Amino acid sequence: MNQISFKTYVQDDYIVKEALTTIKNVPNVYFKFPKKVEDDLTDRADPFVYALVFYMMQEGGTFEINGNVSKSVMDNITMFCRIWHIWEPQRYKEVEIIANEIKDDYRPENRKMITAFSGGIDAAYTAYKYKKNLDKRFQYDLDRSVMILGADISITNKKAFDLAFSKAKKMTDDLGIELIPVETNFRQYESNWVHCFGTVIVAIFNFFSKKYFYGAAADDSVKHYHIPWGMNPITDRYLSSDTFRFIADGYEHSRIERTNVVKNWKACLENLRVCWRNKEDLSSNCGHCEKCIRTKLDFFVLGVKNLPSMPKQFSPDEIADKNLVDRRALLDFYEESYDYGKENSSMSTDMLKLLKEQINIWDKRICKKENSLIIKLLKKQKNIWRERINKKQNYLIFRLLKKQINFWRKRI
Ligand SMILES: [Zn+2]
Repeated sequence: MNQISFKTYVQDDYIVKEALTTIKNVPNVYFKFPKKVEDDLTDRADPFVYALVFYMMQEGGTFEINGNVSKSVMDNITMFCRIWHIWEPQRYKEVEIIANEIKDDYRPENRKMITAFSGGIDAAYTAYKYKKNLDKRFQYDLDRSVMILGADISITNKKAFDLAFSKAKKMTDDLGIELIPVETNFRQYESNWVHCFGTVIVAIFNFFSKKYFYGAAADDSVKHYHIPWGMNPITDRYLSSDTFRFIADGYEHSRIERTNVVKNWKACLENLRVCWRNKEDLSSNCGHCEKCIRTKLDFFVLGVKNLPSMPKQFSPDEIADKNLVDRRALLDFYEESYDYGKENSSMSTDMLKLLKEQINIWDKRICKKENSLIIKLLKKQKNIWRERINKKQNYLIFRLLKKQINFWRKRI
């Protein structure tokens, strides 16, 4: 049985929460917080259940948590694991999680909210929407966001993170939200980040559960969601508990609709960071990769012609590249931009025509790619089946021959 225990210690000006595990190749996972938030951090083991769940599933078997876990966390995470096991049975095995103390930490519900903030469109949309109370039905008291070192920017690239953090802070300062950096070595160990990122965010939110009851991170629109994916409308609900509510935010808004929410926010236009291709400086946008072009296009469609956070402004030739979009999940964004531009008459006829032509070109190329993958797979399967059939036929011939030998032997 694998054991998971915890320790908390001070390192320079930081509080470190660390899990010590017997999971193969995952000896410890830590989260490092600035000392000023020390009193807000929980000592319960709930955050680490979320943080380690994918590592537990990779290993399979029974895990004993040497700490206090909420009953509702245990119930929900069990269902979460069962669903992921059905989706990816080879990668994620069945697990049983037990704890030496299981008790819910009932507190009166408050409206205090914390969000995840990377400095991109999704995070900006969620923070701006709740801070400005734009959604009349769902209103919260949002006063803190976390930015994660060790997520899209590696812990070995602290310099880029500090620069990205200072840009993001200009946005959150402008809204009156306190931005807290949280460092984790989670990605140092072997895991599939696109599956785990949601649980890592939820783990960090749960560390703050003494003070906050709600944590929001932007999820994809339900128009085009993908599974298995780290956040999705099927398993998101199992990342909440009776002691902390996780809000997978923005199901109802496409990327261009989210951009529309922040298009007049000056600090956002100046400090937005969407690019992960700019290897030389991850704190800035390169201006010419697919994501940068897509972001510029959306602002352009919405009437924002000048985006100061981009080194180069949008020009229609940038989408006239047959290789720009090579995945269906990305193509969905362009279709949404096209539909939005058409429905709201916010795009010139020429631009609409060009975008439509490009969408058709990309779609054809993606279909061709998908077809060639299917053909490749079929070819591989054909060889496997042929081998099995040959083996079976050989066996039958062998049996028949044996029978004949016995028969001939008797006659001789
Ligand atoms: Zn870029």
